[in-house]
This record gives sequence, structure tokens and C-alpha cells, in this order.
Amino acid sequence: MSYSAWFQCINQQCAEHYPLNTVIYRCKTCGSLLEVQHDMQALGHRGAKAWMKLFEDRYKSTEWPYGSGIWGKKEWVLPEIHVDNIVSLYEGGTNLFWAERFGKMIGLDNLWLKLCGNSHSGSFKDLGMTVLVSMVKQMISEGAPIQAVACASTGDTSAALAVYCAAAGIQSVVLLPKGKISIAQLVQPIANGALVLSLDTDFDGCMGVVKEITKDETIYLANSMNSLRIEGQKTVGIEIVQQFDWEVPDVIIIPGGNLGNVSALGSGLLMMRDLGIISRLPRLVVAQAERANPLYRSYLNNFETFEPIQAKKTLASAIQIGNPVSIEKAIRTLRHFSGIVVDATEQELADAAALGDLTGMFNCPHTGVALAGLIKLIKAGKIDKSEHVVVISTAHGLKFTDFKVAYHEGSLDFPCRFSNKPIEVPPTVDAVKEALQHALKNRRKTNV
Ligand SMILES: *Cc1c(COP(=O)(O)O)cnc(C)c1O
Ligand SMILES: [Zn+2]
Repeated sequence: MSYSAWFQCINQQCAEHYPLNTVIYRCKTCGSLLEVQHDMQALGHRGAKAWMKLFEDRYKSTEWPYGSGIWGKKEWVLPEIHVDNIVSLYEGGTNLFWAERFGKMIGLDNLWLKLCGNSHSGSFKDLGMTVLVSMVKQMISEGAPIQAVACASTGDTSAALAVYCAAAGIQSVVLLPKGKISIAQLVQPIANGALVLSLDTDFDGCMGVVKEITKDETIYLANSMNSLRIEGQKTVGIEIVQQFDWEVPDVIIIPGGNLGNVSALGSGLLMMRDLGIISRLPRLVVAQAERANPLYRSYLNNFETFEPIQAKKTLASAIQIGNPVSIEKAIRTLRHFSGIVVDATEQELADAAALGDLTGMFNCPHTGVALAGLIKLIKAGKIDKSEHVVVISTAHGLKFTDFKVAYHEGSLDFPCRFSNKPIEVPPTVDAVKEALQHALKNRRKTNV
């Protein structure tokens, strides 16, 4: 059986098609975003059971490249790419963390975190970048005059782009908002040989510039308005269901900024439903930082209007975005999945991240936003105690140690309820014993 896929305009009235090896990010006819469409009829010839078996047989195997969480589902992602052009770092296949203690604390029996940050560059951005860079490698092998691949980034996209390009021997270019990303995120593209441009603006400002410079077809755009990334990221929903033996959770919560990831999550789940693997859909929840919450504002009026905003500085720096590029796709997805949007203040996100850490997680601030949103929805009675809930943890906490240090030092501009300061003690056995006795007694009293 031969499978095929193409870019298609998301505007139903237009529905213009383009081959996947075209350098194109928006519809030439109407200017809307594009999405990858698959020949679903061809895919449907293999039954649901056979797909499930194939995906299970490949999952985390060492048969390159099919052990990758993305390429194990190659037929659903980029069916026509030549295997020699695949640039894979064994992405996907990340573990589910059973949040038993945290769940009990907030009143849930069945809570899990999908740890997308336990991956090569430390965030879920790897899932999409393997697809995009593989397609670039294929286009270059076909003679396309691509000299470099560029992105604007709040930190994680540039880290993923730089490392996949380094593995493929392709030049990457990253535009970063000066002083607005963590040191760990900045050093990743530097180490991986990217051309790093630091611009005195915010993410939306960098995005504006990169859109202009990539009008030149020799510089290929790697931001998530390029729907090749969405094709990789959509496997996360499929993988979660697969990890639960093909049982669909009741609710999936995801932090959102540019809103490509929630669209991707929805797209993977719909594909599974359309191919008969699942028969019901979970509810999807997008969590935003209150200081960068344009989708939340739109949700409050039933998505009837949408206004871009000027995002304010937030600890959740990867979602400090006021003008999300995938807004239309995200609203469409949320309408389909009985979607809810919540937002969280700086204090709520930081406390939720820290409380999670006290139960064995190691959260990035964006996962803190999702956890804070979850707590609010439980309090509001919108999520029930018995529901099966999965939180998408988008990055590894080690990328955000400055956030954690500031929290535990208590140097943020709000009270940090769960801060845990080191105790300075003279280097003698007696002093240590005394400090321990005192501290352990206090701990028992305040234990959360
Ligand atoms: C990119 C990113 C997000 C937001 O994803 P979008 O697709 O922009 O909504 C959330 N968390 C982390 C850690 C990210 O890197
Ligand atoms: Zn169009």
C-alpha cells in the first residue's frame, strides 16, 4: 500500500494543496495557515488492530528509525520521506509519571504527567523538529537551494532546531529575545553551532523579523506556523493513548503559548478516531500564564472574538506570547474537544510547580501553569475526583534552574509558600545534630 500526504490550506472554502517539499508556510491563494493532510482512505485499508500492533511492535525498538516515537508512526507522519533522510535522535517514547501523592493532595485519584521534557534537547520541541529537519534534508538532497534553517524562539524551539541541524550537518539560525530566556536555553544553540542572533525585543518581535527574512527561499522557516512540526508533535496524543493500552484519558491539560502544540495534540487524537483506534475523545484544557493569556480572554467570550495582546513578562517564559500564530487551529481544536482554557498567576504557577516537586516531579514553570490550572478546575468542580487526567509536562525542570533558585531563595516578588532554603551550619557534629532536630520537628508540622 502506498500512503501519501500534502499541505492543505486550513480555510475550508479554499483547500488549496501543495506538495510537502515546497518551501511554503501559508496558502498562496488566501494567506491562511496550512496543515498536513493524509490520504486517510489508504491508511484506512490497514485496520485499526493492525496499526496498533505495528505501533506496539516498533515502540522503543532498536530498529532504526522506527524505535523513535515519531518514526514508529512514520506512515501517519511523513509517509513518503526517504528513510536515509530521516534525522532522528530517538525522540518520543517519554515516560508517564504517576502523580500519586500530588493527585491525593489536590483531590484526584488518577493523575499522570507525560514527561515530554525527558528528551534530547529537554522539551517536546524535539517531536516536531525531527520531522521538519528530515524534510529539509530531503529537499536539499533533491537540489533545493536551502542554506540555513531559521526560527524565532522563546528558548526551546531554538535548542531543538540547533541540535537536529547539528546532527544533520545543516546550518541553523536562531533569533532570540535578548535577556528573556534562561541561560541553559541560550547555551544549547550556542553549543550546537547555531548562528545566534540576540534581538532587543520580545518573542513576537523576533517572529516578525524571522517571517521577513525567510521570504528568501534559501532560509527555511522552522517555527510552528510550518505545519511539518505539528505532524511530529501530534504523535504525543497517540503515544499517551498507546501507553494506557489504548484507553483514552478523560482530560488532557497542556500549557499553551503559540498554540501549535494543542492543535497537534488534537490532530493526533482525531486521526486515531478517524482510523477506528479510539471511539471517544478526551476533553482538552489549555493553560496560559495570566500575563500572556490572549486565548483565555477569547475563551471567556466563547471564542467569538480574538484580540492579540502585548504579553507581559512571566516566569513561564516559553509561553510569553501575545499574538499566537496557531490561534485559528487552536480554537477549532478546542471547539472539537469540549475545550476549556484556564490561566494562572505568577504565584499560582510557581507554587504549583514547587508543590509538584515536593512530590517527586521536577517541573518547568510551564508545567507549573498546567498544574495550577488543574487545581483551579478541580476547585471549580469542572474536573471530577475519579477522572483520568494527564498533564503534558512540556520541558525539563533543569532548563529552568534560575526559576527554581529564585523561588527557593524567596527572591520572587510574592511569598513562596513551599520554598526550601538550605540551612547554614558550622561544620561540627553537635551543630548538625541540633540543626537536624530543630528542622525535622518543624518539617513534620508544616508537611504539605
Ligand atoms: C513551546 C513551549 C510551550 C508552548 O507550546 P506552543 O505550541 O507554543 O503553544 C510550552 N512549554 C514549553 C516548555 C515550550 O517550549
Ligand atoms: Zn487558502
